[in-house]
Amino acid sequence: MTTRTTRLRSVLPAIGLALVIGGCAVAQGNVVDQVLSRCGDTPYAYDQLMQTLRQLDQNDRVWVGAIGRSVKGRTIPLVAVHHPQTTFGQTARFFIIARQHGSEVAGTEAMMALVWHLAQSNSPTDLELLRRLTFAIVPIVNPDGAVEGGRYNAAGMDLNRDWAGRSQPETRAVEWAFRSWRPHAFLDCHELPASSSRAAYQQSFIETIADDPALDQNLTQMCGFLADNVRRYQTAYGARLNVYYDSHGSDRRLAHRHFGLDLATPSFLFESKTGAGHSLRDRIKFHVVGTLVIANLLAQRVAAPAVPATPTIPLPRVPVAPPVLTPQFAAQTDVRFTSPDRDRASFSQEIPLRVDVKPSADFAYLSLHVDGIMRAITDAPPYESMLSLEDFENGTHTVVCRAHDTTGRVIASAERIVVVNNAVAGP
Ligand SMILES: [Zn+2]
Repeated sequence: MTTRTTRLRSVLPAIGLALVIGGCAVAQGNVVDQVLSRCGDTPYAYDQLMQTLRQLDQNDRVWVGAIGRSVKGRTIPLVAVHHPQTTFGQTARFFIIARQHGSEVAGTEAMMALVWHLAQSNSPTDLELLRRLTFAIVPIVNPDGAVEGGRYNAAGMDLNRDWAGRSQPETRAVEWAFRSWRPHAFLDCHELPASSSRAAYQQSFIETIADDPALDQNLTQMCGFLADNVRRYQTAYGARLNVYYDSHGSDRRLAHRHFGLDLATPSFLFESKTGAGHSLRDRIKFHVVGTLVIANLLAQRVAAPAVPATPTIPLPRVPVAPPVLTPQFAAQTDVRFTSPDRDRASFSQEIPLRVDVKPSADFAYLSLHVDGIMRAITDAPPYESMLSLEDFENGTHTVVCRAHDTTGRVIASAERIVVVNNAVAGP
């Protein structure tokens, strides 16, 4: 990776070079490596990021604007990238935000590297992507938090719990920009703390909208289609991840649920796991791969629906699994719930769903379903998910876990009945 100083110095000459000599300036490696080669060793400071955006704004594929100001008056930038011979209205539009939580840097780094790559690449596939799709990216939603190195904004608010009422200038700015762009998909980039004890936070995950009959079928099918592909590509690129699904009852104070459920836009949350064993480069790669998969599929589905939808980013060969000692596997996969107990009458705020899996050699992953709606996919222990009671009405709910092989076939399942009995508020 280049150092930050080298990168800043080289921005302007490199852009000029790419424009003058055309296709000769293409970097080696596939598009993911090319994007990652734009990353520095240390994350952007806010002032550096703004300076780089001003330089990128001189490229004819890039447009940079201010969508608002933070509590302390810092500019919240939006950077758009598309082919100069198309207008935004002719393309699919992918709206991405990063760094609502000031300390979560990987999404910002991934988006800056992606913009830089797309501004300069002359590969035919990148140019075709930009003809069909416009990226509208808010690389830093919470500049005050980023400068302070903390999660909250300068008013002490968690911005990703502010989307129902939008009480903060940062969330209002993004809402206004989102509505002006009328995007075909939304992505919110975050990072998971290394220290979290929650089972759901032990590895990177993506979250999108479930196949919920109470929601629009086009919306839920698009989310499922995109999520399946993101999962497939992330796995092929070496990431370990879970997939979680929201339904109509989910808490809409979070950005991806607000834009997904309130504004009916295919919507994603990416959370890269931090801490030991998760280098900054791997965390950035997680956001880059997922973003490129969604962008490629949107470009094909929205801008040219007749084209078969396969991402043009190369699918690496799935590495051959190391030889495994056969006695580790059961003859047949067996799954059973270890919690909750059947027919419990009342619970505290969250119900833990814990599944004990005895895997056979063909076991690939586990899915959890509540009342027929898939809520989570996980391929690594602990097989555990929390069911928030806010999402469920009093009464009987059916919880099912299914074990799948690599083709998605169900090879084992278990069922539990859960009775939710929340206290009803008095008069
Ligand atoms: Zn976050």
